[in-house]
Amino acid sequence: MASGRRPLIAANWKMNGLKADGVALAQAVAARAKSAGATLAGEVLVSPPATLIDAVSAAIAGTPVLLGGQDCHAQTSGAFTGDISAAMLKDLGASHVILGHSERRTLHGETDAQVSAKVAAARAAGLVAIVCVGETEAQRDSGDTIAVIVGQIDGSIPAGATVAEIVVAYEPVWAIGTGRTPTLAEIVEVHQAIRARLASRIPGGDAIRILYGGSVKPSNAVEVLALADVDGALVGGASLKAEDFWAIVSALPQA
Ligand code: PEP
Repeated sequence: MASGRRPLIAANWKMNGLKADGVALAQAVAARAKSAGATLAGEVLVSPPATLIDAVSAAIAGTPVLLGGQDCHAQTSGAFTGDISAAMLKDLGASHVILGHSERRTLHGETDAQVSAKVAAARAAGLVAIVCVGETEAQRDSGDTIAVIVGQIDGSIPAGATVAEIVVAYEPVWAIGTGRTPTLAEIVEVHQAIRARLASRIPGGDAIRILYGGSVKPSNAVEVLALADVDGALVGGASLKAEDFWAIVSALPQA
């Protein structure tokens, strides 16, 4: 864990959970966070599906657990059936929003330019954007990983974004939900490239937190979170069980 950057463990529940499940999961995480108190080695965030944001917001109120959305629209309001705005997330108590997740990029065809517009909307609403980047397996196999990631960073983070407004999540597409992970050296190589790019584009950009995501679980969290350039994790599948998610939070090195 790098000095000076407060780590973040962020849960991405994706499209999972009815109200009772989501509230129970949020309560279980919140209870653990509350009893950890000052020993909590980083920030903890849950990102429920949009339908549960209000109920989860109530369930974590008064605890250190932060709330995030999984996406937002680039516009503030209007005729965008099915979408939600950054201000709507903020209104329900969210402080963060995940943007440019590979499932949005792949299944909804989101481009870097669209992600950038959403990041701008998040900034305007006062939300921290967790900007996801990651290479496909074919891009890694052809040696294009760093070029792809740098291109996504440049295209997805709008000019003028500041350190406090951005978190980057490096999520290799081939590692999401597959149980496969890059080697520790591969994670370090990409995180260092991201940090260098952020430092060259944003004043003080080397202080932006860079999370690793992709099949993080209790059994690999300690070694991943110990890496100097890894400032936390974005966790999908393992965030759906409070014990597993909390084992990952507990794997953060103590400062
Ligand atoms: C994700 O989708 O953001 C993710 C990291 O998923 P998983 O942990 O299941 O690989």
